[in-house]
Amino acid sequence: MARDIPCGAIDLGGTKIEARLFGPAMETLTMRRTPTPVEAFEPFVEGLAQQIEWLQTTAQDPELPIGICIPGLIDKLTGECFASNVPVSGRNLGGALTERLGRSFPIANDCMALAYSEVNGGAGTGFEQVVGLVLGTGVGAGLCVNGKIPERTVGPILEIGHVGMPARALAPYGLPLWQCGCGKLGCMERYMAGSGLSRLSEFLTGTRLDGAEVVTRADAGEAASGKVLAAWLDLVAECLLTLQLTLDPDCIVLGGGASTVPRLTERLMPVLAARQLGALRPPALRVAQHGDSSGARGMGLLALAERR
Ligand SMILES: [Zn+2]
Repeated sequence: MARDIPCGAIDLGGTKIEARLFGPAMETLTMRRTPTPVEAFEPFVEGLAQQIEWLQTTAQDPELPIGICIPGLIDKLTGECFASNVPVSGRNLGGALTERLGRSFPIANDCMALAYSEVNGGAGTGFEQVVGLVLGTGVGAGLCVNGKIPERTVGPILEIGHVGMPARALAPYGLPLWQCGCGKLGCMERYMAGSGLSRLSEFLTGTRLDGAEVVTRADAGEAASGKVLAAWLDLVAECLLTLQLTLDPDCIVLGGGASTVPRLTERLMPVLAARQLGALRPPALRVAQHGDSSGARGMGLLALAERR
């Protein structure tokens, strides 16, 4: 059986620890979700270790390559992590797992894991410099160059969600500097994340609608929702332009809940094209091919690559 199960992965979130086993074509064979123990580091590590043991037992392989992605930062030199939704800040998660399980695991940021997945058999395949931008509960990005993750101290994660939204994008809509959970004002995440469309609808129309509802109404010709959607696309395009002007990607892959807006890349492309400087051309825009499991898939592939 072990031959049919090349790798596994753990996708860590603030509410669940998702363990996933992949088959020879990186298809999901089985998965299990358990609640994330968020009260302290020790029970958290134990919950994570039990999910890893479940993967090893199910695959009948105690050495199964397993990668772990976390919604946070990992300092590659010290192993120290930082995250706001899981209790790992200031702790060496990799070291604690090695102590508990007697082996080591690659650990990476979840946006970076998505970028790695998508350049290896996904929407970013064939491109040289790929940014994976996740529009989920939060907003973050990862970078891959020539199919690989560049070697850096903290890893090439991009905290673009906490870069300030430019005044020129806010002013046309009279948008204020919304307070972000990170303590700063006007972070891009507040306008662009999954909840950004809802927040914009409340501010611009006085009615708070769910993001999907805004899109449905806009497409049915309702003017107020059309204005909200246009504002959101403008703000997302401003973020894409920032990534383009600073990192020069030839492709940006969009992931996370908000990337499921129908025809998202077709809607964004003209807005981004209209913002170009001189002769610059926008990078290719793609939606992640591997959906919700792309981060886990990336970590499985990374664990396999490190094994070789
Ligand atoms: Zn912020």
